[in-house]
Amino acid sequence: MIFGATGDLANRKLYPSLYKLFEKGNLSDKFAVIGVARRPLTNEEFQENIKKSVKSSIQKEDRIDEFASHFYYHSHDVTDSNSYAVLNNLANQLDSNYDLQGNRIFYLAMAPEFFGTIALHLKEDGLTNVSGFKRLVIEKPFGHDLQSAQELNDQIRTAFSEDEVYRIDHYLGKEMVQNIEVIRFANAIFEPLWNNRYISNIQVTSSEVLGVEERGRYYEKSGALRDMVQNHMLQMVALLAMEPPIKLTTEEIRSEKVRVLRALRPIEGEEIKEYFVRGQYDKGTVEGTQVLGYREEQMVNPESNTETYVAGKLMIDNFRWAGVPIYIRTGKRMDAKSTKIVIQFKDIPMNLYYSPEETLNPNLLVIHIQPEEGITLHLNAKKAGQNIAATPVKLNYANRGIDGLNTPEAYEKLLFDCMRGDATNFTHWDEVALSWSFVDKISDVWENQKAENYPNYNAGTMGPREADELLEKDGFHWWPISNFDVDKC
Ligand code: NAP
Repeated sequence: MIFGATGDLANRKLYPSLYKLFEKGNLSDKFAVIGVARRPLTNEEFQENIKKSVKSSIQKEDRIDEFASHFYYHSHDVTDSNSYAVLNNLANQLDSNYDLQGNRIFYLAMAPEFFGTIALHLKEDGLTNVSGFKRLVIEKPFGHDLQSAQELNDQIRTAFSEDEVYRIDHYLGKEMVQNIEVIRFANAIFEPLWNNRYISNIQVTSSEVLGVEERGRYYEKSGALRDMVQNHMLQMVALLAMEPPIKLTTEEIRSEKVRVLRALRPIEGEEIKEYFVRGQYDKGTVEGTQVLGYREEQMVNPESNTETYVAGKLMIDNFRWAGVPIYIRTGKRMDAKSTKIVIQFKDIPMNLYYSPEETLNPNLLVIHIQPEEGITLHLNAKKAGQNIAATPVKLNYANRGIDGLNTPEAYEKLLFDCMRGDATNFTHWDEVALSWSFVDKISDVWENQKAENYPNYNAGTMGPREADELLEKDGFHWWPISNFDVDKC
């Protein structure tokens, strides 16, 4: 059952992903989808929309008619208590028509203010009263701060137990984010070095070229800290820093991630200036086109105090990571669209190949999350020629280069995981709560202190100068993000 079935997320991501699962045989013939939204549509009109949405993103759609015939539409305002009984009748009828054995997944692909209401109605009106499994998939944002997240969680938990709740963080569905643990735990050359004795710092960047687009109203209340750091950035940090799990089970992996978040040094009050930088974009040039500053965008306050950029230094106070800064940065209207992790290893004790013009580059392991997917290992090797001198070389591996196919879309993987009951790549409540309590300390201060220097970076750049200084004072610098050439892999 998809709530918000006529919306952007459902059309752009969910239907194409479901179709791919169907085409690959990962979704059996015994399935039915009920689309729920307010606007009146017949089943036929809804099925036409499904076909359009699939065709717009997939070239090969041989089984599209068969696929679309499994979709049914129910026009329903989720705040209207009376309509849930009708929805339940339809669900029961489809359950017997398709032999669904009482298994139900509820996907909430609509505005978060409705999440609690829907969950309560699902229980009160008997939709969760099934003989098979029931699961709730819930989109971000999960709350606005710890308190609202707690309230939402309490509402949801009246109808679903924790292991029935699948909180989406679509970064966790990305191939290269899932690859972090494999790179770490399946390679003898990395795991022994993965600690404060050999790693000098880690840098996690997630930059966007786009501005706030038409999401100004939402973004004004959110900002980059809530929109990106609380969820995606901290999830990547947890995967990078966690201890090897005893087994690859949902519980073991999640509990290791939770331990990292518990060890995250809280940053509060006056310290925030030392550890975090906020920014807001001004007008500028992006890919040759002049673009507006954030304060001139639609639905944005002309004196907005909302950050469109965050850089921060995180410290994990445990035995493995004591003293290793993990720098994160994320922003809109930046120079390039890229999500990338750079692990910088410590310098060797002595450089035999030093000459006044040349210093040795540190070894770097770069994990390219998007848009390219791959790994680069930066080493030093002999410069060709008669003298013995060192020169940097790169070993590249591109995911796409190997099989010529794009890896599955995050939503395809996550939907499949949910159907199989594997919650590993969804966020547990404990992770959500710990992330909010870390972020709340910073947002409380930022909201109450106007940023006098906004706007402080031009669109089309890599963010404010202060973000560079954040690393410079520790003797580091941001590694460039656009240095991966897939064609050469
Ligand atoms: P959207 O395009 O605005 O769609 C909202 C959907 O909810 C529509 O189908 C709308 O249909 C329905 N709706 C609104 N009020 C309703 C009501 N009272 N009763 C029943 N249906 C109602 O939103 P979206 O972009 O798809 O986002 C959905 C959720 O996913 C949000 O939580 C968002 O934060 C999250 N998300 C979206 C994206 C994305 O790429 N779009 C990415 C990450 C997360 P009617 O108008 O016909 O009722």
